[in-house]
Amino acid sequence: MLNNNSNLPNKNFDDFDHNNLWHPYASLPPSYPNLVIDKADGVYLYSKSGDALIDGMSSWWAATHGYNHPKLNAAVTAQLSNMAHVMFGGLTHQPAIDLGKKLLSIVPKGLDAIFYADSGSIAVEVALKIALQYQLSQNKPNRNQIATTRSGYYGDTWHAMSICDPVTGMHSIYGKQLPVQLFVDKPNTGYDSPLTANIKDNLCAFFEQKQHKMAAFIIEPVVQGAGGMRFYNPEYLKVLRKLCDKYDVLLIIDEIATGFGRTGKMFACQHADISPDIMTLGKALTGGYMTFAATLCQRYVADSIANSEYAALMHGPTFMGNPLACSVALASLELIIDGDYAKRARHIESQLKSYLQPLNEYKQIAEVRVLGAIGVIELNETVDMPRFQQLLIKHKVWIRPFGKLVYMMPPIIMEDAELALLCERFTAVLEEYWA
Ligand SMILES: *Cc1c(COP(=O)(O)O)cnc(C)c1O
Repeated sequence: MLNNNSNLPNKNFDDFDHNNLWHPYASLPPSYPNLVIDKADGVYLYSKSGDALIDGMSSWWAATHGYNHPKLNAAVTAQLSNMAHVMFGGLTHQPAIDLGKKLLSIVPKGLDAIFYADSGSIAVEVALKIALQYQLSQNKPNRNQIATTRSGYYGDTWHAMSICDPVTGMHSIYGKQLPVQLFVDKPNTGYDSPLTANIKDNLCAFFEQKQHKMAAFIIEPVVQGAGGMRFYNPEYLKVLRKLCDKYDVLLIIDEIATGFGRTGKMFACQHADISPDIMTLGKALTGGYMTFAATLCQRYVADSIANSEYAALMHGPTFMGNPLACSVALASLELIIDGDYAKRARHIESQLKSYLQPLNEYKQIAEVRVLGAIGVIELNETVDMPRFQQLLIKHKVWIRPFGKLVYMMPPIIMEDAELALLCERFTAVLEEYWA
């Protein structure tokens, strides 16, 4: 079976996986096989045949400290010998408390009520529930839709999906089953490009017209991730903050991908010097060790819900506040704070610029853009993944393009020489792909 799909050594692939295990956004069986990884350490992933692939993905933003980190391993192990899990209903524990205090020491001003969720998508669901319950508590039940821009990505659960870009989020598959939300144009691209008058005017008009239906406006700050790896001017967030204040709409900032230093600030909304009413965190929160996320909100939002007819926040996953996850997240935050990861990301930014911007001369490339420890190459044509994957393995580098986007967000701990090697191998893959 696998031989038909690839001329790679079979050792790196698995028949059971190919035929029986679904992978993200894939058919079963998939159109090309998934590479078996046996071990990961530092910035390298080791394939079954023993090749060390240098990691340019941080396992989708999460593994910001690389893999098999001694401090994170120690945090999990120590907690494991104490207790792996207890229910969070009626019980609490030190790891949850310590993590909460640490989070409040770094998040934007005013955020101080925390809900521990089990994944990013769930953190978004909880954020939406908080927004809807807040509006109910304000006696505004008609404010029951969520506003957002096009090209966003907020996760794969039902309501999270309803606010993803309607086209790339495949809303058409689910037809009328999906909740209907309010969409406005996406911001024009370019971190340094001023907002166009048109974008600003449309946004103002959108609020003016739809305010009475809006519970909240949700946005990924400065970087729209899975919806197109688009960077936009932080001024957009300032305008949004003002409009939300003016019309009593809650501003939800989704920092699940951008949080913890990735864009060169601890949180990407700090590029605009604003505080959201609600914020979601995930991905790098546990340094990629386990699934965990958090939703935070301002005290006045929590108070309003607490003083309403429905005082309880109606969400409570079985594994809420899992102690192993809290412990490793706390250790991860200590590394991020002590190591000044935002500064490291700015250093990576300058290097990525010097390695990637020269690629602009290739006619196959539409645009090269870099922000913090994120490097994006937008091609003119969609990547042929089966062929591209073979070249990645041949050149021992791990990245995962989607559509026309070939991009990297390496672990923040990556050293200069490793980053040089990553970019060198990445360039070799592109050159051979086009040869
Ligand atoms: C990945 C992502 C999510 C969803 O997180 P999961 O843990 O995959 O459910 C939500 N929002 C943003 C901005 C993301 O990048």
